[in-house]
Formats: sequence, C-alpha cells, structure tokens
Amino acid sequence: MVTATPQYLNYINGTWKPARLGSFVVNTNPATGETLGHVTVSSAQEVSEAVGAAKDAQVSWCKVPAPVRGEYLYKIGELLKQRKEHLARTLTSEMGKVIDEARGEVQEAIDMAFFMGGEGRRLVGQTVPSELPNKHAMSLREPVGVAGLITPWNFPIAIASWKTLPAIVSGNTVVWKPASDTPALAYEFVKIFEEAGLPKGVVNLVYGSGGTVGEAMVEHPDIDIISFTGSSDTGSQINARAGELFKRVSLEMGGKNAIIVMNDADLDLAVDGIIWSAYGTTGQRCTACSRLIVHKNVKAAIEERLLERINQLTLGDGLDEAVDIGPVVNSEALQHINAYMNVAKKDGATLLCGGHITREGPLANGHYFKPTLFTDVTNDMRIAHEEIFGPVLSLIPVNDLDEAIQVNNSVDYGLSSAIYTNDTNKTFKAMHELNSGLVYINAGTIGAEIHLPFGGTKATGNGHRDSGIAALDVFAEWKSVYIDYSQKLQRAQIDNN
Ligand code: NDP
Repeated sequence: MVTATPQYLNYINGTWKPARLGSFVVNTNPATGETLGHVTVSSAQEVSEAVGAAKDAQVSWCKVPAPVRGEYLYKIGELLKQRKEHLARTLTSEMGKVIDEARGEVQEAIDMAFFMGGEGRRLVGQTVPSELPNKHAMSLREPVGVAGLITPWNFPIAIASWKTLPAIVSGNTVVWKPASDTPALAYEFVKIFEEAGLPKGVVNLVYGSGGTVGEAMVEHPDIDIISFTGSSDTGSQINARAGELFKRVSLEMGGKNAIIVMNDADLDLAVDGIIWSAYGTTGQRCTACSRLIVHKNVKAAIEERLLERINQLTLGDGLDEAVDIGPVVNSEALQHINAYMNVAKKDGATLLCGGHITREGPLANGHYFKPTLFTDVTNDMRIAHEEIFGPVLSLIPVNDLDEAIQVNNSVDYGLSSAIYTNDTNKTFKAMHELNSGLVYINAGTIGAEIHLPFGGTKATGNGHRDSGIAALDVFAEWKSVYIDYSQKLQRAQIDNN
C-alpha cells in the first residue's frame, strides 16, 4: 500500500511488521478530519505470535535482576522527557485533547517511568517472625507471566504507562492492544521501549479491534493476566470470560463522578474546579465530573457563575494554545452524547446552555459538542446515572450533606467524588462516607497523582488498582516462604500451643 502518511505496524518479538491480512484502517484527526496514518489490522494469528514471543522472552526477562529491569525504565523515562512535546502533539492530533492537557498526560508517563524504575530496587515483600523457633518466614513477589494489556483512547499514554511499566519491572512480559482510535501514540511509546534497548519479546504491540484482537487475548491460554481499562460493558464481558478461564483480570472502568458544593463553600474556588472537571478533556475522562450536587441555598449563585464561565470557553483544534475545549474522539461518540439531549429533555431536565453539536466556521470538519449544563436534574433521571462521556454536566439540588452523600453514592459507579466545604466536620464525614476510590476535598474530581492507587468501587473496578505501588500487586504472585533450620519436625499451630 503506497501512502504519504505513516503506516503503523505491529511490533512482535522486536520486529515491526504488518499483519497477514494485509488490510489497513485509517487514523483520523477528530479536530479536522485529516488522515494521520494507516494502521495494520490484526487477527488472532498475530495475537498468538505475540504471545509466543512474550512467553519465550519471559523465561530470561524474569531472571534479569529487578534493579537492572528498573534501569530500563529510567532510560524509558529519559526518552519520554526528550520527546515530551512531540508525544503531546501526536496525542492531541489523534484524540483531540488540548495541548496543555496532552503535555500533562505525557508527564504522567514520565513520572510513572521514574517511579516504577525505583521500584526495581524495592519490590517489597514481608519478613515476619515465625511462631516457631529456628524458623524464618517471609513473602516474595514473583511475576505472573505474560500480561495482556487492553487500553482506551482517552489516556493513550498515561494508562499504557500505568500498566506496561509495573508489569515489566515485576518481571512479566507484555502483549499490548491499544485502542483503535490512538494508534500513533502506541507506536511512539513502543518505539521508546525499543530504543531503550528492552530485549526482544518483552513488549509486543498488536493493533486491531477489541472484538478480534482483544477477545483473542482474553481467550489465549498463555496470557496469564488481563489488565483492562475501558467501559464497564466491555469490562464485564472480559471479566465473565476470564473468570471461566481462571485467568487473573484487573479492570478499571467507567465513572459517574460528582462534585458536591455545600452552602459554606468558597463558590469561586468551586466554580474553577467544576469547569476544569466537567469540561476539561471535553468531559472524556473516566474521572470527569458529570454530576453537580449543590446545596439548594447556593444553587442560583452557582448557576450564574457557571453560565458566565461556560460562555467564555473556546472550542477548536487542541493544537491551538488558545483553545479550551477540543473535539470529542469520533462521530459515534458525538452521536452518543447528542442522543442524551433528548433523553434529558424528555425526563424533565432544564437546559441552561449548550445541548447541541456545532459545526460553526473552523469547526466544520471536526466532532464538536457545545459545553452543556442541565439544571433541576432529579436523581431518577437517566442523565443522573448513565455515563455520557462528553462535556455535559447535570446539576442536582439537595437539602443537606446527608442527601448529597446519598445522591453521590446512588450510582452504579464509584470512581471519583469531590466536595467543596469549609466545615471540618463535613470534610471528614464526606471523606469516610463517599463511596469511591478517589475523594477530593476542595478540589475537582480530576487530578490523580501517579504514586497513589487509582481505581474505583462498584462497576468501576474489580478491586485492583492501577498506578502507585498497588499496581505491583496486579502483576505479582505472592509467594510465602518458610525456612526451618531447627533440624526437626516443627508443626505450626500445634507444637507451640
Ligand atoms: P471500550 O471498552 O470500548 O474500549 C476499551 C478498550 O477495550 C479498547 O482498546 C477496545 O478496543 C477494547 N475492546 C473493545 N471491545 C472489546 C472486547 N470485546 N474484548 C476485548 N477488548 C475490547 O471503552 P472506550 O474506548 O470507549 O473508553 C472509554 C471508557 O473507558 C469509559 O467508560 C471510561 O470511563 C473508561 N475509562 C476508565 C478509566 C479508569 O481508570 N477507571 C480510565 C479511562 C477510561 P477498540 O478500541 O478496538 O474498540
């Protein structure tokens, strides 16, 4: 196939090559409709090939001392730093987030590389006293084996770094299927692994659809763990199948995150956090704020301030530094968001601004949706419960903190919750009673740092966490070791009682 744009090929066992099918799909810029490249389309055959390479490589990779594995991560971190601007521009071009946020996302991968590089010298286990004399008791981390990583388009390098880096520093090898919407970033990231000198087969990249490549990964008997981030529907399917196969599975999924604003809050501070959390990344963060739970006494003041700020937001190509809100990722996402406008109106919500697709002037060829605010939303409406994944915010008035917490916790998801209050008692009550993996006090629902666990409760996750040292547990088998040097039979729970 002859083309002026780049071709994105699989990376299997240290070699870049097209899939056998010989077909390619187009990668497009959601801001402009421009063609960015062509991506090879893989089948289960390429998955098998990549898994075979990863399995072979794991035999020697797990014997490389962990501090030496960590050194590779430092090299990866250096290369990410050197290419930060190029990576950020690639990211904005293919998924739309504004350039400043793209730089922030690349920084997250840089931070993760250095943080996990350091873990190569820790990978901490436990040494504990034995209940018997002359006996030593400890626990060790062993790699799980071959890790199958399936990632979404909305954080194409941050989430990939949360999974690949703890996996490889722990001695696992990787088969990675990135989202179909973000192939260029996946290419750039894997190129960095290659240039850092990672032995062949340690990281393998297979492009293709979730239905074909993703499912083949879940089915493959030599993939020992699936780590997935994406929608709850897909995660649930993966969980069911992986359960039947007794395969370890780590899931990070959707959110229906809320900011609570109490009547004692600093309203200007709250509005800053609401605008950033609801409309940043065009509302396409798993932690985006899509519910605003407001004490009835400050509802009118919040609405007024929000409308003023929303009207100042500029839509456009995220590469333009003056733009606040980029496009949504593709036309299906645009239609999905738009469909919720009728749902909301039918359910009786009041539209205060936005509520429609826009193709004005320079936006003609992109997928743009006006920042939208609904008010007088009640907790029985669909927009109060379903993940819309766009720049749509629903204001739900409440009478007090107890009702606010009850509304916050009433959704199926449990990723991120935030509260604005200047009352210490309310702060601590909220910190303990908000049912989500992340809680922010006097800050919006977004802003996680890489050295703490990331993930959520209920339909957001299955108990595992990405990021932080908690991510190491996803990619480790715990082994408990007892060394008895008494030179006689000692029976635990019997001889010492
Ligand atoms: P999807 O679930 O559609 O896709 C996620 C990944 O899974 C993609 O790589 C996709 O491939 C793949 N996939 C799709 N179908 C299957 C299948 N049957 N078997 C295996 N893999 C499959 O989610 P989105 O891409 O729409 O991502 C947005 C979602 O991700 C939102 O719900 C968001 O909340 C969530 N998310 C959660 C985060 C968290 O940490 N909790 C962080 C970021 C996002 P393909 O691209 O080819 O379809």
